[in-house]
Amino acid sequence: MKAESGADKPSGSTRGLAVVTGASAGIGEAIARRLAQEGYRLLLGARRGDQVQRLAAELGAQGKVVDVSDEASVAEFCSGAGDAQILINNAGGARGADPVADAESADWRWMWEVNVLGLMQVTRALLPALEASGRGHIINISSTAGLEVYEGGAGYTSAKHAVHAICQTLRLELVGRPVRVTEVSPGMVQTDFALNRYGGDRERAAAVYRGVTALTAADIADVVAFAATRPPHVNLDQIVLRPLQQATAYKVSRRE
Ligand code: NDP
Repeated sequence: MKAESGADKPSGSTRGLAVVTGASAGIGEAIARRLAQEGYRLLLGARRGDQVQRLAAELGAQGKVVDVSDEASVAEFCSGAGDAQILINNAGGARGADPVADAESADWRWMWEVNVLGLMQVTRALLPALEASGRGHIINISSTAGLEVYEGGAGYTSAKHAVHAICQTLRLELVGRPVRVTEVSPGMVQTDFALNRYGGDRERAAAVYRGVTALTAADIADVVAFAATRPPHVNLDQIVLRPLQQATAYKVSRRE
């Protein structure tokens, strides 16, 4: 997808500051790499400081430790981002796949605290800066799990449905103000997502992607860059993308 429209890029200068959460791996790392190529300055955050700082050094960006579920950590992370123009709320993930009857409270709490409260806390902290930039943009990495449900997935799907509701609410609350809100909803993406979901069980994680050409993190970064570089009056509300072999979370055509 060709991102450059020219319309969003002030002539002769770099683009504004983009803040990316969950930039230590996977989709967040790919978004950081792509936005650096597009000329954005970057503030990158995640809990694994060594990984985020290594990437930041490579990209000439700023990297900081942040736990988005911790208000004090979010305040410290956002303290140097008064000129933020774009916020990519990417930090998130799933824990477990138990039916509601066997739900682990700790897993649900983690999913809601990171995917939902974390997203709210970073958004709340940066909204004044985004609006003051005159061309603010919040891009939330949601999921097709925010649009559909599957057995054993309620902890994650309910959290991503909440993200979908927050995106829609933000668009109502911010209408007429210079802050765009885009929800990016991917299906299956090949990252450490499944490994983290299944507590490091490599076999179980590999089974998720077996026989499927999944989306790559770079595919998501491509779409994010496209949304970010539209002219400021164009708001892409929601972008849903899946692998060709995936129709829903549970309807996947696998090669033998
Ligand atoms: P990964 O597990 O590879 O990456 C998750 C990222 O989130 C890591 O950088 C991790 O960094 C960060 N993170 C987790 N918890 C926190 C926290 N409390 N504070 C700050 N950062 C945190 O998975 P993906 O790259 O695939 O996931 C990225 C996003 O994409 C998530 O929101 C996920 O729900 C969503 N998504 C993924 C899909 C997939 O199939 N892979 C499909 C649809 C959506 P660290 O551990 O260093 O803190």
